[in-house]
Formats: sequence, C-alpha cells, structure tokens
Amino acid sequence: MNKTWDDISLQQPIIAKMLTNSIKKNRLAHAYLVEGKKGTGKKEIAKFLAKSLFCKDLKDGIHPCHICINCKRIESGNHPDVHFIEPDGLSIKKQQIQHLQEEFSKTGVESKKKFYIINHADKMTINASNSLLKFLEEPNQETTAVLLTEQVNKMLDTIISRCQILSTKAVQKSVLTEQLIGEGINPLIAKVVVQLTNSIDEAQNLAQDDWFAESRKIVLQLCEVLDSPSSLFYIQDKWLSHFKEREQTEVGLDLLLLYYRDVLSIMIGEEEAVVYRDVIDHLKQRALQVSRKSVVEKMAAILEAKKRLNANVQGQLMMEQLVLNLQEGS
Ligand SMILES: [Zn+2]
Repeated sequence: MNKTWDDISLQQPIIAKMLTNSIKKNRLAHAYLVEGKKGTGKKEIAKFLAKSLFCKDLKDGIHPCHICINCKRIESGNHPDVHFIEPDGLSIKKQQIQHLQEEFSKTGVESKKKFYIINHADKMTINASNSLLKFLEEPNQETTAVLLTEQVNKMLDTIISRCQILSTKAVQKSVLTEQLIGEGINPLIAKVVVQLTNSIDEAQNLAQDDWFAESRKIVLQLCEVLDSPSSLFYIQDKWLSHFKEREQTEVGLDLLLLYYRDVLSIMIGEEEAVVYRDVIDHLKQRALQVSRKSVVEKMAAILEAKKRLNANVQGQLMMEQLVLNLQEGS
C-alpha cells in the first residue's frame, strides 16, 4: 500500500500537519532541520517532502503518488534535482558541500526546483558547515534544504538559526508494535522488543534475530526455576553461555526486568500491559505469592545489577548475587 501523509501523521502528527499546510499554501521554508532520536522517521519525512514537491500526480494536492517517474527516481536516489548527502567515512567534508553547490549552479535539469537532504548534518566538518552556511545565506526561491540530525546540540548555532526546526518524537510503542506485527513479526516478540528500543530499525533487527528469541526463552526459564536450588546451576549452565558480552547481558537484565514489571502490572489490575502474554498463568501465580514491596525491591536489584555490570563487575559474580537477591524470602 502506498503511504500518504496520514501514515506519516501516525508517527509524527505535528510535523506532518506543519509540512502539509505549507505544501498546500506553497509556503515552504528554504531550510528545515529535522532533529530527533534514531528511528523516529527523519529520513522518511525528508523523502516524503521531496516526493510531494516533485510528484507529477499528487493526490488531493498533497499526497505523492509513488508511481510517477519523479516519485520513483526520488525513491531510488536517482532524481537529478534531488540530492542526498551522507557522511563520507566519519564526516561530511567541504568538497561534498562544494560539489552540491556546483551541481545547483547549473540550471535545473528538469525544472528550476532543487532539493537536497543532508543526513547526519552534525557530522559536517567546520569547513563544510561554513560552506553550507554561505549557501543557506543566499537562498534561492526554488531550493529546499532538509538537514537531519540525531544530535542537534553538536550543530553550529549559525546553521540552526537559518533553519526551521522540526523535532521528531519517539514513536508510540503501540504504533511500533502494530507496524512490526504488520511485517509478520510474532506478536509475542514484537511486544517485548518495543520495550527495549524506540527505533523501528533496531526493533526489526532484534525481532528477526534468533539470539533474541532464545534470550526471551532463557530469561523466562530462569524465572521458573528461580526459587529452586537449581537456579545457580541454571545460571552457569544456560545463562552465561548465552549472554556472553556485556551488551548481551544488558539485554538479558532488561528482559528480566520486564518479567517483574509484568507481575506488578497484574497486581495492580493492568493485565493488558503484560508483555509476556504466553506465560500469563505463571505470572498470575507469581503475583499471588509475592508482595508488591518485594517486586519493587527485586526490580531495584536488577537495576543495581545493570549498574554494577557497567562498572565492570564480572558477569558471573554479578548474576549469582542477583539470583540470590531475587529468591523469595531473601
Ligand atoms: Zn508521483
């Protein structure tokens, strides 16, 4: 299905409204700075805006058709009047901005309209920034610049002040979950990954990773055996061989934290918030056995373990102590 601005609006309602209003009134700014966290759809917004300006068959005057030659060329990065700049290695260099200016000084290939997107604009070198600044200071009526950044604080004030700023918001978890399920991701996995990241790309990667599905299983199995004498053996036998690196252990601890959050959700009557839906009977049983105070203490113990992990406490020692803390009556 071809997306419309209504789809963009699901994730970024304020930005979609501002841009569609400007398109309708033909009053676009010369330069936009789209800033916000990774995975909030910045690049898609920029491309969508380009298509809306160049599309030969706009629907209702604003929605790009996605099938005309211009839409297709923008999608594949081949439109002669739409340029996309990305860091070359670690930075965006002066030559890249100069090249853009040279291209733009030639008369329009298709029309006078020009559009350029600079991804990771914070990675411009000082020389590149100054080159761009000159470019922004002599705005051409028909040129639209869209700068994208995850780190607006690293950009020059002089550039920021030349742009209209559009701040993306983290996508709602429910929207992200629907999107993943729509892409064929197992709903049980989708519900968990959206708790760990706001980024659609990262969520997709985790959700399709067998290691992650196995992690979920191992964490829930640990919770099953937690109060039995074999729990320490389980740590040595299963946990440590699966969660080897520090980053991996962190995912394991986050998944463990979700387990206790689920128990708490059941205790306070918010069953619909439970993410481990396949083990809801076990969770309900656990909720009957423990006090709310004890669940909160166990969540605090997991957060403390995460801190110790980041302070380089050895993984096995940290986990063994954590398991003792998580056992009932401890
Ligand atoms: Zn089109």
